[in-house]
Amino acid sequence: MDQIKVFLSEDEMPRQWYNIAADFPHAVPPPVSPDGKPIGPEQLAPVFPMNLIEQEVSTQRWIDIPEEVLQILWQWRPSPLCRATRLEKALKTPAKIYYKNEGVSAAGSHKPNTAVPQAYYNKQFGIKRLTTETGAGQWGSSLAMACQMFGLECKVYMVKISFTQKPLRKIMMQTWGAECIASPSNTTNAGRAILAADPDCPGSLAIAISEAIEDCVTSKNTRYALGSVLNHVLLHQTIIGLEAKKQFAKINTYPDIVIGCAGGGSNFAGLSFPFLADKIAGTKNPRVIAVEPAACPKMTRGKFAYDSGDVAMMTPLLPMYSLGHTYVPAPIHAGGLRYHGMAPLVSHAMREGLIEAVAIPQLECYRAAMLFSQTEGFIPAPETSHAIAMAIREANQAREEGKEKVIVLNWSGHGIMDLTGYQAYLEGKLTDYVLPDSEILKAEECLKDLPKPPPLS
Ligand SMILES: *Cc1c(COP(=O)(O)O)cnc(C)c1O
Repeated sequence: MDQIKVFLSEDEMPRQWYNIAADFPHAVPPPVSPDGKPIGPEQLAPVFPMNLIEQEVSTQRWIDIPEEVLQILWQWRPSPLCRATRLEKALKTPAKIYYKNEGVSAAGSHKPNTAVPQAYYNKQFGIKRLTTETGAGQWGSSLAMACQMFGLECKVYMVKISFTQKPLRKIMMQTWGAECIASPSNTTNAGRAILAADPDCPGSLAIAISEAIEDCVTSKNTRYALGSVLNHVLLHQTIIGLEAKKQFAKINTYPDIVIGCAGGGSNFAGLSFPFLADKIAGTKNPRVIAVEPAACPKMTRGKFAYDSGDVAMMTPLLPMYSLGHTYVPAPIHAGGLRYHGMAPLVSHAMREGLIEAVAIPQLECYRAAMLFSQTEGFIPAPETSHAIAMAIREANQAREEGKEKVIVLNWSGHGIMDLTGYQAYLEGKLTDYVLPDSEILKAEECLKDLPKPPPLS
């Protein structure tokens, strides 16, 4: 019988994170201010604690995971690497499909992998309170849980459309002791400015980030926490791929294709960067695919540019594929993928030619999620369904070519809190939304006066 689940013992668990910045053939461009000057660590200090800033700018290949963080991660880690044999059967494919199940954490996604160390490092630095934004609520709930574990206060600005569509996540945050309000709110200057222009604004991550940062810099003993995009966040997520490599080694297998859905890029990077280490070293050559929604196609149709992470331009300018910080994405159900920019490290991997990007429309993703649920049982988050849809495309192609390929996807979270999206799908109320070209032109307009990133060197 084929082995369908691979375990690791506690002493086989990774004890260091992998920092891909040490290995890229070309240097990643630095963050800059609007005048084009590189941003130094001290300029980030009002927003992040210095111990996390050190990780943000580090080019050291391996970084130790603190013992207190490991103790918590081990509650649900290693996450299972499972073979989706019944899905393979339904697809009549010779491909082997594996999924790394990050839905087993208490919050139900990969996000606690970074929420826990972020809360830990802030606590170490003497911080008492964290502010943040959340889209679908996965990040807000993960940070709420981590703050509770380390005795920090937590305030979450939740994108209004998700606040309405996903009320249960708010209850999770409150259960873990956090305060959660809908964004745009009238409690910040950034929020009030947006509401004055558009009282019905559905919100966006870029708006919620502005509110959370404004709250942070105007409050005492407070720092801000981001759930994706930044280097230190992607670093913390590499535990996923480091475990997966060990799990594959145990069954003498190596994936031909590595797939992750990509919102800000953290779960995709978490699974794929340890495999990219082998690709950069020239020892292996997997295809690595980032999947984004057709409604928010920053890598496939956006521009590589310096852009702000938020609408009020409170963050430094980051070198990333972007649809422009003023972009308000269509309210598709995969809330966690509705962000205008892609992590600088993932954007850089794209420029280096190490990864591919594909955009998939919402309905194909829900069909994939239905098939996965009906074969493997676990109901995926709408974000995760993008990775599943891509794995299904590759498995179908393997059947047509009669090739045995090994596919691994990051099963980034479960969808038990996102059933309203499934309800809309089951009732036939969902439609596909492909971003019109006029929106791409708006992005170009939004980016045109910002400094330009240098060519690869
Ligand atoms: C937040 C989230 C994502 C998207 O965020 P990334 O930083 O791109 O990983 C994907 N899947 C789930 C389940 C999420 O909660």
